[in-house]
Amino acid sequence: MDFSYSRPPRDFRGGDNFNRNGNGGGERREGPRGPRGPYCQSCGMPMLRPEKFGTEASGEKSAEYCCFCYQRGAFTEPNITKEQMFEKIARIMVQRRGMPEEKAQSVASSIIQKLKRWAR
Ligand SMILES: [Zn+2]
Repeated sequence: MDFSYSRPPRDFRGGDNFNRNGNGGGERREGPRGPRGPYCQSCGMPMLRPEKFGTEASGEKSAEYCCFCYQRGAFTEPNITKEQMFEKIARIMVQRRGMPEEKAQSVASSIIQKLKRWAR
């Protein structure tokens, strides 16, 4: 009886072959920033389902705005100001997520700063 079983090598490195450069041409670009999924560049709402996306004049889904902000190629509230949108976002945080008002306002202000519609 001997115990010379082969022990697994310590520095075993599995195949690092995650980089498969397939030639399918199906390049997929997810939202450039933001923790998960695309979100509306007007109100900051995450667009987790296809029906949450707004629509372009052509009828296609908008890649950037949600269905509440953007329909058929135009903003539903074209004259809303950044301040009004800020209020709106903060209110939603309070109502839907039960956030304390102060917190909601600080979150809303950090969200709105990242949105394209208000970047200027
Ligand atoms: Zn929106």
